[in-house]
Amino acid sequence: MPDDTRLSLRLAHLYPTLMNLYGDRGNIFALRRRCALRGIDLEVDEIGVGDAWDPASTDLVFIGGGQDREQRRVYQDLLTRTAALQDFRDDDGVILAVCGGYQLFGRSYRDIDGEVLEGVGVFDMRSVHPGKTFDRCVGNVVAIWEGETLVGFENHGGRTYLNEGAVPLGDVISGFGNNGGDGGEGCRVRNAFGTYLHGALLPKNPHFADRLIQLALERRYGEGGLATLDDAWEARAHAEALHVGLHQR
Ligand code: GLN
Repeated sequence: MPDDTRLSLRLAHLYPTLMNLYGDRGNIFALRRRCALRGIDLEVDEIGVGDAWDPASTDLVFIGGGQDREQRRVYQDLLTRTAALQDFRDDDGVILAVCGGYQLFGRSYRDIDGEVLEGVGVFDMRSVHPGKTFDRCVGNVVAIWEGETLVGFENHGGRTYLNEGAVPLGDVISGFGNNGGDGGEGCRVRNAFGTYLHGALLPKNPHFADRLIQLALERRYGEGGLATLDDAWEARAHAEALHVGLHQR
């Protein structure tokens, strides 16, 4: 007999085969594992180009990074989902968008060839690739997010500029973040989080993973209390990435 008391969450993974760099899929593994250890089922719908998506049954949306070539392959399909994604954001749906996905969740991305890809405008920002002759933003990142550290790896040519009033996710301590100039990393609006951090991000930032789960639970069930997990390995991964990030030249 099915257990009706069991909590479950549903995640839409956008373009899992095209938008998946530097272990971004690991974010899904971390969420699923951290849910499972607390008796919560995490169901994942893989949404490719042209696939139907039902926002009403979705708790979390994830999109990973991709190079300009992959971004060009998905952005028009993504644009057909603009209203649905903005409504989902306004309804406090939980969104995590990484790097190339993050860029496409802004208003626009001018790519390496100068082609402008319109974005879905979940985040009020635009991204610009300065061109082939410019260095990419590559390396380990340490950012402060709500008084705690976030660690990850970045590799992007595009630079992101938040429009007035938009709020960065965190403050860069080490690395480039949004553009290497204004000290901001990522963007946050309501329960939507955009970031340049790959790594994968969530396995080594369990506090951030738990925040996403908690927000999704609160939205669906009105209550988001999470049992504490033994995070010895996660803490160690975080500490090592922190060390590397703080000591890179
Ligand atoms: N194509 C984008 C850039 O280079 C994003 C790359 C990525 O997702 N790592 O700016």
